Amino acid sequence: MCGKIQDQANATEQDSAAVASEIGGSGTKPNPSSLAPINLDHGDPTAYETYWSKVGERSTITFTGDQSLSYFANAKNLCWFLEPKLEEEIRRLHHVVGNAKVDDHFIIVGNGSSQLIQAALYAVSPSDQPQPTSVVSAAPYYSAYQEVADLLRSGLYKWGGDAYSFNKDEPYIEMVTSPNNPCGMTREPVVNRPQGKIIHDLAYYWPHYTPITSQVDYDIMLFTVSKCTGHAGSRIGWALVRDKDVARKMVDLMVISTIGVSKESQLRAAKILGVISDSCLLDKSPGLENFFEYAQHLMAARWEKLREIAKVNELFSLTEYPSEYCLFTKEFTEARPAFAWMSCKSDMEDLEKILRGHKILARGGKRFGSDPKYVRISMLSRDQEFNLFLERLSSIHGITSGN
Ligand code: PMP
Repeated sequence: MCGKIQDQANATEQDSAAVASEIGGSGTKPNPSSLAPINLDHGDPTAYETYWSKVGERSTITFTGDQSLSYFANAKNLCWFLEPKLEEEIRRLHHVVGNAKVDDHFIIVGNGSSQLIQAALYAVSPSDQPQPTSVVSAAPYYSAYQEVADLLRSGLYKWGGDAYSFNKDEPYIEMVTSPNNPCGMTREPVVNRPQGKIIHDLAYYWPHYTPITSQVDYDIMLFTVSKCTGHAGSRIGWALVRDKDVARKMVDLMVISTIGVSKESQLRAAKILGVISDSCLLDKSPGLENFFEYAQHLMAARWEKLREIAKVNELFSLTEYPSEYCLFTKEFTEARPAFAWMSCKSDMEDLEKILRGHKILARGGKRFGSDPKYVRISMLSRDQEFNLFLERLSSIHGITSGN
């Protein structure tokens, strides 16, 4: 996996440099004939940069050399490396948004929710099984689950594939991602057997991506600043865990793998989460635009433009989402997912290949346990890349073009 990530990072670096030089920093119109690829394979959440540059000083945090030297943040807390300020801001944000119950859950901070996925798998795997426990998720599933489950060839767990096909009468772990990466749909567990443990990955359960239809209250819930505020570079995720023993085992994994999480990152994340909570509260936010409203408008505008192109295109179509009542915005809205899950109208086509022919890099359906006629495309790039993507997409008219 490391090799793959490194390759992807190198590709991103080169591609972004190529795109940056192509689109120029001076407002020059992109020239679609000098085609450098646009990399929308990753969900790199740079779309909200403009919001944060407008927020300016209010989101700034500084450190002096004598600060944060200790490994410990709060020795009395079960998660002793969790900064109290981050815990406070996580609980406050969930109360402000109303997307998850936090009051009777332990909070565990991780190096991204990626590390918490591993910690949760470790913590819920039964240790008395002769064989590794199967980790399943309903296809199309987030491609990293398979990589994480199989990377170390653990004796505790292994990838078990599509949850819809899991029919063994034995313990299992089901990853439930809602809204789902890649397809944006609301998800429930599908195996539903007594021997199962469920990990709810709620990275995208925020009002800019999906209507908040209930205040969820699951045993293990994973969140990340990466997708909530766009600060993927800070590498901060958190788990809300009801059971003390499970929480303690998750902390054990964190301690053994990285002895906690950077305090600078935690305090920065606390600051950022504080800003978005404040931005939702009129009395705390003079001159501060409501972050979720801003991000929701941005995503809605992008989806509208993409749907206009899909409507007149004979090659591909987009997933449709129902309109549901959002408890946060108090309006009926459709989901505006962080990824577009696009499919080729013809069953025979490899859409990733077709798009690559038009210098659009997207992740093909097979990586998500689905069909090559699907691709996942990030909707979270910067405006310039997104507009270039739309321009290229609208120039694709038939199956043969670009192939
Ligand atoms: N879960 C899901 C569903 C995701 O899409 C991602 C990021 N792509 C993650 C977890 C991991 O996020 P991070 O490690 O950046 O917190």
